[in-house]
Amino acid sequence: MTVVIVSAHYDSTGGSSTARGPGADDNGSGVVVILEALRVLANAGFKPKDTLEFHFYAGEEGGLLGSQAVFANYKSSGKTVLAVMNQDMAGYSPSGKISIYTDYVDSSLTAYTRVVATSYIGATTSDACGYGCSDHASARSNGFRTSPRPPDTFVSYGERERGS
Ligand SMILES: [Zn+2]
Repeated sequence: MTVVIVSAHYDSTGGSSTARGPGADDNGSGVVVILEALRVLANAGFKPKDTLEFHFYAGEEGGLLGSQAVFANYKSSGKTVLAVMNQDMAGYSPSGKISIYTDYVDSSLTAYTRVVATSYIGATTSDACGYGCSDHASARSNGFRTSPRPPDTFVSYGERERGS
């Protein structure tokens, strides 16, 4: 069985228990993006050629714990994953543009993500975390193709932690 995955983490440190809107952007926004995609696709009766999985990970803030467990299991069980697209911090964009991450991602999926984002919302920017900063890195470290996510308005893969 061939699988395409869209994902987001639902845990949050929120900076502190008194932080303003703890968890709203990181990563309530990513969770809402994929929940809305699921709602729209289900309502449209979408029947994908490949299995489309929606993943909600725990423990991202603790070191990508949930996604590492899932992708290590997928690797050891020989699951075929065509692509992984992770959403992290989709609700905040100081530049007003979608920024596409360029590290810990698959370059061809990244290019495709950029074409889609540009077609729908205009020019994009690029960014890099410099480390495996979100759950896409778990997929990548287990040998699966990941798409980059934008740093300002995370829409592809990767994550930029801003602190609070
Ligand atoms: Zn996050």
